[in-house]
Amino acid sequence: MSVYPWQSELLQKLSDDRARMPHAILLYGSSGIGKYDFARQLAKSLLCLTPVASGEPCETCASCGWYLQDNHPDFRLLTPEQDAENEQNSAAAKKNARKTQISVAQVRELGSFLELSSHQSNGLRVVLIEPAESLNAASANSLLKMLEEPPAGVIFILVSHQINRLLPTIISRCRKIDMPFPDRATALAWLNQQGMKNAEQLLDYYGGAPLNVVRNNGQDAGTESANLFLQGNNLDPFLAASKSVLLGMEVALDALQKWVYDLLSARLTGQVRYYNRHATALQALSKEVDLSMLLDFQRQLDEARKSANHPLNNELQLETIFLTYTQLFMKKTG
Ligand SMILES: [Zn+2]
Repeated sequence: MSVYPWQSELLQKLSDDRARMPHAILLYGSSGIGKYDFARQLAKSLLCLTPVASGEPCETCASCGWYLQDNHPDFRLLTPEQDAENEQNSAAAKKNARKTQISVAQVRELGSFLELSSHQSNGLRVVLIEPAESLNAASANSLLKMLEEPPAGVIFILVSHQINRLLPTIISRCRKIDMPFPDRATALAWLNQQGMKNAEQLLDYYGGAPLNVVRNNGQDAGTESANLFLQGNNLDPFLAASKSVLLGMEVALDALQKWVYDLLSARLTGQVRYYNRHATALQALSKEVDLSMLLDFQRQLDEARKSANHPLNNELQLETIFLTYTQLFMKKTG
């Protein structure tokens, strides 16, 4: 494995600068562009005893071997999942299975790791924190103390999709790296290489972020949903809800939010973003919608998205949403 093609220049640059590597770096940018994979590869490369000229790890030294086995004594990973593992014994924690925070206990545990010295001749140790926005107030403050007095040879790598949610004092302790977003041609070439079918259409649907296409296994929620949305006020809300609910509430709402984004964008700028294949139809439909109702509908979808994980009656909720959708159109369409 190596970093993604749109990241190789950055890895090279960081590697050339290895001697002056700051003790904390913050990799930030959109979701779905491979920040975490890059961070993992960078960590492995920093720990590698004989990295190659491109900055990639050698994959053959003892350090690379430990890393591959998830067993490197000089490496620590902090994620919310780890939190769930640590609290497995608590019944309350089990109930609340979806972990979203890195706890202060997790950060404190780092303390003893930081007191040790490196197991290797290069003297480096790496702590990877992902996503950094999952630090809560207590754990962020605890980490801040470590960043203020960094032990020799330790490099902190923080990864963030939402840098505006981090404490400014944490950001100021890190070298910020704006992670490259692949251009369309590069992303398409890479997706084709992965054997992804309908790569163009999917890349549009996932907002140009190739890793989100792969993460969703090329799930083409857009095609099926678009066939429904295209019907405008001829859409049968009950039929649409019974079909959409099979996608799962989050996916169904995501598909509709993107459609509504495109409707609004077609109306205001003539451009669409997610459903390029239907650009002409969207432009025609957008002329039929009541603009203020469309804006209200967009807000309604945002609200529904927030509660998408609640055990509500999803199909019923979708019926209401689709009924409102059909009412957006002032004239009979189709
Ligand atoms: Zn190596």
